[in-house]
Amino acid sequence: MYLNDARETMRPEPRLAPESVPANRRKNMHLARIPQISPLSLISLLYAMSMYAFYQQGFIGRATFLAVAVVVLCFVVMFYCAFRFGLNARFGDQSLMLPQILAALLIMLTVAYLEQATQMALVPFVLIAFSFGIFRLSTASLILLLFGCLGAYLGIIALHGRAEGYGIGFRAELMQWFVLALTLPGMILVGKQIQNLRQLLNATRYQLEHFEEKSVRDELTGLYNRRQLQTELDRAKLQIDTLSIPFSICLIDIDRFKEINDNSGHLAGDTILKEFSCVARDSIRDTDILGRYGGDEFMLILPNTVLKGAVMHAERLRVYAHFLDFQKILPQKHISLSIGVAQYRRGEKINDLISRADAALYQAKQLGRNRVEWADAT
Ligand code: GH3
Ligand code: MG
Repeated sequence: MYLNDARETMRPEPRLAPESVPANRRKNMHLARIPQISPLSLISLLYAMSMYAFYQQGFIGRATFLAVAVVVLCFVVMFYCAFRFGLNARFGDQSLMLPQILAALLIMLTVAYLEQATQMALVPFVLIAFSFGIFRLSTASLILLLFGCLGAYLGIIALHGRAEGYGIGFRAELMQWFVLALTLPGMILVGKQIQNLRQLLNATRYQLEHFEEKSVRDELTGLYNRRQLQTELDRAKLQIDTLSIPFSICLIDIDRFKEINDNSGHLAGDTILKEFSCVARDSIRDTDILGRYGGDEFMLILPNTVLKGAVMHAERLRVYAHFLDFQKILPQKHISLSIGVAQYRRGEKINDLISRADAALYQAKQLGRNRVEWADAT
């Protein structure tokens, strides 16, 4: 049995083939397979221990105590084996929560029937057994379990009353049943409230992550937006100031994009922006950062890259873009890029770096477009 099985999984994860799981998760999956005694089995063992105290104090006979100990041990070993050999995988609820709770309740009720004196231990242990099911079982299963348990307990009390009379002992048992009948639904209600809160929390966390991701992305292209580019530039600057790792930037602008919009329509313009973004994203290293700087202008941040390498990369990108086939939407079939490149100078402001790259881009436009120009590194 697994300790993890007792924890609630709010959104069950899809089962993944081991090779499709990252190495660190594979390690955790391996750890999760190590069989452990489930908390519910531990509770049963505690119940057996409490029966030992009853036996010691002379409330129950030796035979009863031994019978309880053996049955509980069988119960623990049986479920341990079910998990150890993967038999639980054949069931919908792999934690086998319902059979575990049923087995625990059956043992407790049987003992309460055989040994009336143990009834004082019944209520707390029944509550604990139910508490395990609250997050795992459906409300319908819990209600069925609740009626089953209360009904069986009432039957036991009736049997005791018939055998021993309806005196004070019988009334005390009825009171105990009454208390259980009130506390169990209360506990289930509180548990369900907690479960709802946890679901809400999970949903909120998911939304938050989603919004966080959205807040750094440009909606049309999915690339980083201008704000995130600024953050990445600050990070790169920090790296060069502390670790002396150089970096360069490329400002990329699509040539005569306004004409494209005017002649082929805004939607065609959008398609070009998206397709170019895909190609540019595929052409960069994992460590490079590409974002949409605004309109038809993009920025590529190349960490650990000096000017020469950045110019080479920009040239490669310009050629890639030039060979993109847009014959379905553009009369001229192709687009071209002008790119301005600049390497960060230690100590300079990020705005100055951008201005130098922008000046290089302007120069590329002035020199006829479809070309790469760069600002001096020193
Ligand atoms: P240049 O070669 O000098 O860059 O000429 P250009 O026509 O490309 O001029 P500029 O870069 O200033 O034009 C940018 C155009 O991009 C203007 C604007 O209408 C268009 N644009 C900006 N954002 C979007 C967008 O999200 N979708 C589309 N389709 N067009 C956009
Ligand atoms: Mg342009």
